[in-house]
Amino acid sequence: MNDLMDKIVSLAKRRGFVFPGSEIYGGLSNSWDFGPAGTELKKNIKDLWWKMFVRGRDDILGLDSAIIMNPKVWEASGHVSGFSDPLVECKACHNRFRADQIDINSKCQECGQKNWSETKSFNLLVKTYLGSVEDSKSVAYLRGETAQAMFVDLKNILTSNPKKLPFGVAQTGKAFRNEITTGNFLFRLREFEQMEIEYFIPKPKTDKDWQTHFEHWRKEMWKWFDLAGIDSKKIHEHEIPDDERAHYSKRTIDFEFDYPFGQKELYGLAYRADYDLKQHQKFSGQDLSYVDPETGEKFIPHVIEPTWGVDRTFLAILLSAYYEDDKRVVLKLKPRLAPYIVAVFPLVRNKPEITKKAREVFLHLKSQSLSCVWDDRGNIGKRYYAQDEIGTPWCVTVDYDTLSDDTVTVRDRDTAKQERVAIGKLVENIEFRARQAR
Ligand code: ATP
Repeated sequence: MNDLMDKIVSLAKRRGFVFPGSEIYGGLSNSWDFGPAGTELKKNIKDLWWKMFVRGRDDILGLDSAIIMNPKVWEASGHVSGFSDPLVECKACHNRFRADQIDINSKCQECGQKNWSETKSFNLLVKTYLGSVEDSKSVAYLRGETAQAMFVDLKNILTSNPKKLPFGVAQTGKAFRNEITTGNFLFRLREFEQMEIEYFIPKPKTDKDWQTHFEHWRKEMWKWFDLAGIDSKKIHEHEIPDDERAHYSKRTIDFEFDYPFGQKELYGLAYRADYDLKQHQKFSGQDLSYVDPETGEKFIPHVIEPTWGVDRTFLAILLSAYYEDDKRVVLKLKPRLAPYIVAVFPLVRNKPEITKKAREVFLHLKSQSLSCVWDDRGNIGKRYYAQDEIGTPWCVTVDYDTLSDDTVTVRDRDTAKQERVAIGKLVENIEFRARQAR
């Protein structure tokens, strides 16, 4: 890994964002656990997304479907037969690689030999067995994407929530892929999270009909970069050429990010026509068409699919927010995403009156639903240093003066400037700062 990635991985562990999974057992290849700060950041990312795309609009409904679905879903979607990567094995060291990611005319990067196997197609669905008997009848799959349930459940969604097209369904949750080569920290995982939308539109009469919606979603994705604090200078739209696109898709754009290990996919946006619903109609035998309440026209809705990976978002946010100079390291997270909006410290640890007062301030802030953290480790300089690395926008210190004048010091993460604020005005002051920083 390169220098910046090393710094991010080490900061993530040190400050409780991300730990190696099952570490006390020697870990598990590319499995990561989100620690206390990481859990807050990840939750804030998903909440912000939900707020922007579901609660903030009147044309998107939420869904939370089962991870294990009827295996026929994955036959209909094409995942059982086609969801695969080309796999090649080095016959000398038995390491396996994705044939499209290495040059098989060169030597193996692990052992330096050149003795490649035939390239095979390797299915990425994670298989499991349900019930007590492990046979072909009990085979099931952990979902390879969250998207399919939004097609499978569309009928029930429309019956319970009559909506006129265009409208979308949104879902966030875990997805699983038996990736051949994982790596680059949170970039390529076998267990990851997605935030996806299936935006259903009427059957287009002209190309312009779907293009208008596609353009809308393209702009929404750019708005999201800004909202989440992802450096838009590092984003590149990659138009997938005709011969690489799925046959049913008329247009796909990958939004790629400049990671330290190269420019690679962050999100995707695709026009999938009516392919998925038609497949599910065929495999389930159910009528999945929509009847326009005004014209009575009956058709299978078409779909635009914007998709976001949560873990890649998390990584892109850390990489965009990372700042260092000769004095300190700062995660310049957007306050709305920072794990904690405020840290509260007693100036010294050995003065019970100061600690008592600081606890009062801390509990008061908490009671106002501000996400805050208590920190009384080491000296004040060390605490500022730690909170800068966690990305906490404001630190509040209770000191000797507080006991007589009921004011505290508020210190700003980015400018390191300090200001004296009356405790009675503290919530208002922090909320004002947070609004200004949007
Ligand atoms: P890639 O080409 O990198 O394998 P993909 O095109 O297969 O990705 P999609 O099927 O479009 O990815 O999945 C939607 C989103 O889910 C991706 O844009 C990405 O953010 C995320 N994602 C996909 N695979 C992984 C993975 N193995 N680990 C982490 N996130 C992933």
